[in-house]
Amino acid sequence: MSTIVSNTTDIQGKRDRKESLVWEHFIKESLGSGHYSAKCYYCNHSWIRGKPEVLKSHLALYCTEVPLSIKTEYMEMIAVGSTASNRRQNTNANSLTEVNVVKKDKIDQALIRFFVCCGIPFSTVNHPYFVDFIQSLCFGYNPPKKDALSTTILNKEITLVMKNIQDELKYEENLTLGNIFRI
Ligand SMILES: [Zn+2]
Repeated sequence: MSTIVSNTTDIQGKRDRKESLVWEHFIKESLGSGHYSAKCYYCNHSWIRGKPEVLKSHLALYCTEVPLSIKTEYMEMIAVGSTASNRRQNTNANSLTEVNVVKKDKIDQALIRFFVCCGIPFSTVNHPYFVDFIQSLCFGYNPPKKDALSTTILNKEITLVMKNIQDELKYEENLTLGNIFRI
């Protein structure tokens, strides 16, 4: 038991260190109570209150000035990261034992694809009838809040799609504009 506890602490510690590393790319000013405003070193975009998840997505997807090596590093980080850890407040011990984190990520991915590709408003995800429908299929799964669906989970899916495109293009030879349009 003690091994499990220390492993969990290790993982949490590593995650916290990674979260604090993202701040190296931003100018931070304390707002008190452990929160900081943030300003991107590369493009000067600013946030009244910087959140590590938002800052990571900015570097991976939205910053137009960030060096490619840093962009790639953060794309990798988001692509392999678990979205479930970003909404711990929305889960409880019972549901985590019923639906493990890997399965939760798979369901999150299917959910965001369905919402985006079918043009479903993100607010639907917290409608009681929708929650009821989802939980009748998988009791242990708590759908994410709409804010998490439209930011963290959407950003992860965009990152995965962009990474797949990058990986495919890396191995393409004699690529011309014609090839791209044919895709
Ligand atoms: Zn930026």
